[in-house]
Amino acid sequence: MTPRQSATELARRLISAGHTAYFAGGCVRDRLLSREPKDFDIATSATPQQVTRLFPGSNEVGAHFGVVIAKHNGHHVEIATFRTDGSYHDGRRPDSVTFSTPEHDAQRRDFTVNGLFEHPETGEIIDFVNGLADIKSRTLRAIGDPAARFNEDALRLLRAVRFATVLDFSIEPETNRALHHHARLLDKISPERIRDEFSKILTSPRRRAGVEHLTEAGLIDRFLPELRATIGCDQPPQWHPEGDVFTHTMIMLDLIEPDAPLDLCLAVLLHDIGKPPCRTVDDTGRIRFNSHDAVGAEMTAEILRRLRYPNHTIDSAVHMVARHMRFMAVQDMRVAKLKRFMAAPEFPMEMELHRVDCASSNGFTDNYEFLLQKEHEFANEPLIPKPLVNGRDLINLGMHPGPRFKEILESIQTEQLEGRILARDQALDYLKRHITNP
Ligand code: ATP
Ligand code: MG
Repeated sequence: MTPRQSATELARRLISAGHTAYFAGGCVRDRLLSREPKDFDIATSATPQQVTRLFPGSNEVGAHFGVVIAKHNGHHVEIATFRTDGSYHDGRRPDSVTFSTPEHDAQRRDFTVNGLFEHPETGEIIDFVNGLADIKSRTLRAIGDPAARFNEDALRLLRAVRFATVLDFSIEPETNRALHHHARLLDKISPERIRDEFSKILTSPRRRAGVEHLTEAGLIDRFLPELRATIGCDQPPQWHPEGDVFTHTMIMLDLIEPDAPLDLCLAVLLHDIGKPPCRTVDDTGRIRFNSHDAVGAEMTAEILRRLRYPNHTIDSAVHMVARHMRFMAVQDMRVAKLKRFMAAPEFPMEMELHRVDCASSNGFTDNYEFLLQKEHEFANEPLIPKPLVNGRDLINLGMHPGPRFKEILESIQTEQLEGRILARDQALDYLKRHITNP
């Protein structure tokens, strides 16, 4: 049973019991746009009590007032009583809700395209907010007075950019003006909620337009002010004919695969974030960005921690930013060093970052092609082979555990990676020679 069929059955039961029940919000919008809805929401005249009585085992969720989650065939459906939100004092959530009519329930929603209802059996659209016209013209418009709506709940500022980005809609001028005007309200919103909206913008195939919009509206300054300094940060034109660091980065966001993973999107966005603080001009007048990779990696860690990204995401993005300049030197690496470099779990993403780093600037492809060739060459064996000897062998040869252990085992691994040692007896010979004569 599909999620839609499950939700339809739940709605039918509400209707048979004498209540009104509609599909509401995102799932209606997505059907009209021929997109797959993430989840189905039902809006109903039944009170939460009546809903829980009809669907034993369902739970009222405390966080949103009057919302019941019902499970059907493994699908979760949110069932919410038609309601009007009371006043908002904190810019984040209403102080109270009152159960009310479908019309009022539509009007408390954020954007007209999110304010539509659909009759679950007939498919009829019930439109109190003129959302159908905005779906047709692909327009994102706040319901009611945009300034007032952003003041009530500042997360809507980011939701506006997110929906415009993901749906490829343009933001209606008055809504967009209010967005610019009220960007500072975002300071009331928790980093976690900002992060979740930002991640959706960044993983959208239209991520470039999304980040540009956040920047134009002054929203980016509220949570990622470091990006502002990349605008106007000029670079040597012979390496970067495309322009400043911001332009270079935006082109890269466009060039990565549409379904690029979040870590890669973050790494691309932040790979040159260390350039503005590292920019110097040498005696010959040449612009330099010494150490921008290391500085950028530190900044990346700080930014992503501030936005409460999980450690695995932070580690992976920091790793990619820290290593992005080493791609310029891969052709000079000894085999062992190259294999270790390529063995990083992030390597496939780093290849993509390097590809678009070059494609958006000088157009060089030699390091990328060299690495593709090496991937092919090394494909038949594991990059890091099983060790031929271990600490136990060293102890058997009379050594005491200590820092020298790691050093010796690593040098054996180097011999192995370089293809000079292939078997255990060769490795043991090597050990004996090295222990007596380090
Ligand atoms: P998604 O595809 O991300 O699920 P959605 O439109 O379904 O998009 P949800 O966050 O699931 O968004 O919310 C469901 C509906 O609840 C929205 O369509 C909208 O009508 C309403 N809504 C959600 N958040 C807000 C908000 N901050 N202010 C006003 N209405 C909101
Ligand atoms: Mg939804």
